[in-house]
Amino acid sequence: MRAARGSLQVGAFRGIPIRVHFSLLLILPLLAISFGGAFRRAAEVAKVPPERLLGSPLLWGLGVAVGLFCSVLVHELAHTVYAMARGGRVRSITLMMVGGVSELSEAPPRPRDEALMALVGPLTSLFLAALFGAATWLLQDTRSFNLQFACFYLGSLNLFLGAFNLLPAFPMDGGRIVRASLTGRLGAVRATRVASLMGRGFAVLFGLYGAFVLNPFLMVIAVFIYMGAEGEARQVRMKETLTRVPVSALMTPRLAGVEASSSLWEAMWALRQARRLALPVTEGDRPVGWVWLEPVRQVPEGERAMRTTRELMRPVVVVGMDEDGWTALRRMAEEEVPHLAVVAADGALVGTLDFADVQRGLELYEARAERAGREQRGFRQERPA
Ligand SMILES: [Zn+2]
Repeated sequence: MRAARGSLQVGAFRGIPIRVHFSLLLILPLLAISFGGAFRRAAEVAKVPPERLLGSPLLWGLGVAVGLFCSVLVHELAHTVYAMARGGRVRSITLMMVGGVSELSEAPPRPRDEALMALVGPLTSLFLAALFGAATWLLQDTRSFNLQFACFYLGSLNLFLGAFNLLPAFPMDGGRIVRASLTGRLGAVRATRVASLMGRGFAVLFGLYGAFVLNPFLMVIAVFIYMGAEGEARQVRMKETLTRVPVSALMTPRLAGVEASSSLWEAMWALRQARRLALPVTEGDRPVGWVWLEPVRQVPEGERAMRTTRELMRPVVVVGMDEDGWTALRRMAEEEVPHLAVVAADGALVGTLDFADVQRGLELYEARAERAGREQRGFRQERPA
């Protein structure tokens, strides 16, 4: 859910949307320019005479940017293919600056599989690095300088991707491996907290070093790691809390919707009275759709009394009041709807649930859990040894 924000869809793989995160869009021009500047030195490191290379340094910089993009894509597809082979379901792939996120709608259940899924990406990158490295070495005496240089930097990019992602901190793959190995002893939330703390520690180190050597790259990477580490921890906390809270405790209670046979004039009245942008539509006591304010408003006032709510209603997605909050949130994301109709065991409407409801409930329960944790710790200290 989180990864979908701030990203752009560029394609699909077996029906899974592939998105590009703004962090990658930000780094590509930066990379193109800074590589253009370090062009001669890079050529020397690759043992290629710079004057024998075709095209301008900036063009090569652009090539490096495209190379990084492709390397990240291959890295991420490795995670995805492995997850799918293990019976996981991948909902979307988001390419980021230093790797990506394969959003799972069904995570591999065992921590061991999660660790292996995380490991597959860096291993693929390191394997590609070795391949391009070997190609660079084989091309050494053939005087195909352009090809040799291209292989050299593709090898370097993949080496960087592989090594960087093995750092034992969130949001890098190494963080996932650390989390998986700690989950058995500490539980998911605390294991995530450790990996996330390490991520923030690395971010601060990168940031300080970047500021010290005046390298904008490292500073951008530092910000990205910091944000990623925090987002990961938040999501796990959220999941842990919401799986224990029933939908009935989060929803806004509502026993009656707008009758499907009622006129649009009545629907408008109900929406205004409830001060909502949308209300569930019911037939008897069962939810059958949603009516939105905007389309009703677009119907000329004179026609509203003649037309029924059923004509304008949109599909409804329901959730049982005894299902948990995490299931509800996942259903909203999967069906791409902003709200659910909550039903009792007999299918009758008992309430509605939207993101604001979930957010409010989450804050309430997290505050309560924190208070309980403090009291428990205080109690332990008071006990005589
Ligand atoms: Zn990865």
